[in-house]
Amino acid sequence: MYDVKSMNADDFIDDGEISDTLLYAQENKNNYKLIDSIIEKAAECKGLTHREASVLLACENDELNNKIYSLAKKIKQRIYGNRIVFFAPLYLSNYCINSCTYCPYHVKNKNMCRKKLTQEEVKAETIALQDMGHKRLALEAGEDPVNNPLEYILECIQTIYSIKHKNGAIRRVNVNIAATTVENYTRLKDAGIGTYILFQETYNRKNYEQLHPAGPKSDYKYHTEAMDRAMQGGIDDVGLGVLFGLGTYAYELCGLLMHAEHLEAVFGVGPHTISVPRICPADDIDVNDFTNALPDKIWQKIVAIIRIAVPYTGMIVSTRESAENRRVALELGISQISGASSTSVGGYVNSDEPQENTAQFERSDTRTLDEVADWLIQMGYIPSFCTACYREGRTGDRFMPLAKSGAIGNCCQPNAIMTLKEYLVDYASDTTRKHGESLIEKELMNIPNAKVRQITIDNLKKIEDGERDFRF
Ligand code: SF4
Ligand code: SF4
Repeated sequence: MYDVKSMNADDFIDDGEISDTLLYAQENKNNYKLIDSIIEKAAECKGLTHREASVLLACENDELNNKIYSLAKKIKQRIYGNRIVFFAPLYLSNYCINSCTYCPYHVKNKNMCRKKLTQEEVKAETIALQDMGHKRLALEAGEDPVNNPLEYILECIQTIYSIKHKNGAIRRVNVNIAATTVENYTRLKDAGIGTYILFQETYNRKNYEQLHPAGPKSDYKYHTEAMDRAMQGGIDDVGLGVLFGLGTYAYELCGLLMHAEHLEAVFGVGPHTISVPRICPADDIDVNDFTNALPDKIWQKIVAIIRIAVPYTGMIVSTRESAENRRVALELGISQISGASSTSVGGYVNSDEPQENTAQFERSDTRTLDEVADWLIQMGYIPSFCTACYREGRTGDRFMPLAKSGAIGNCCQPNAIMTLKEYLVDYASDTTRKHGESLIEKELMNIPNAKVRQITIDNLKKIEDGERDFRF
């Protein structure tokens, strides 16, 4: 039975409720009056239910769909302004005892060269990332209690935070590792992680069980209830996502939104971020085997609908997507992107050498961070390396009201300007520096509060003089 507040995955992601919702959406896909009223409700920036969002997804009317797209753009601007936050994934280990059929790290893939970074290698990768300008990482590791126990992950986090190379520093470490116990989540929290990220992959239990035939991840309930345990363990920023293409997209979007509603109903804090990865080519993985693989247009519509249904959430897109698709997605609601990512273990240090085969997926966007930063600037976005909220204690229920009201934009904008300035001084090419300086001049004028503007101007001067790490 559907129960948003239940702690049982089969109740808060109730299959019957999803089927009823999808039926309701199909029945109403030509009900333009209803669709218009849902779009009007979304314009108030208070979000949509999974039922309302599903009706919008089913709508095939171009005019109404265009209204959804322009609203998504407006809402993103209203809440987060025009800053786009950068992050980079750091692959620690590709040892994995699971058997996910869509991932080349699955235990039976004998082509995969297995590798786990030593602490010296973690240090070298961190320096390579700092030398590019990155400040925010997402750690990635397969599930393997022998090769990658939690102690190993904790040690890596400590190593990463301890390294300060030249003016570089990693100021926020997010972690994407397998579902674990409440106690382990508390240990991650105590290690100073930012967001705990775990993709559901698919919300369809039957599908899930077929795609995960063996290994600890095959336990659908344990996996689906992981975010509840993370919250109980004290992690109040969690990141959701599905791997679009594994199941039917309407089912997945509905499940994803029900999960967000569940977290909000039980803990008063919805997902800090939502990621929208799609199945893409990799070693031993052929996308043609996945009949639900998503066309660009539908994927873009899903991005827009998540933005208006969960307006407060950070939305993330990776280098799985092409530059052009990322450009469109930025317009429709994406607020965080990765840049110059390596999806291999040790790939930042060895980026110029022929790689052993350790990659999790093929990247579509292979530009350098500087190229992506300049591209954003030229489109009028502020590339941001901000990590302020978590370091100022603005997490969980302290962050949510600021994000929901849009007040967070008052911090995002000056922080984006100051962290961009650091990037321009320390790492940018001449061209990017020139474009970035003009953007900063222009954006300073857009800071509405005169006092905040003056502090930002003063801090920019201090950054030129060698000081670092200012934030609101
Ligand atoms: Fe292992 Fe994660 Fe890949 Fe599954 S998706 S095989 S758990 S690394
Ligand atoms: Fe993110 Fe907070 Fe910085 Fe805004 S101020 S970019 S929400 S960390």
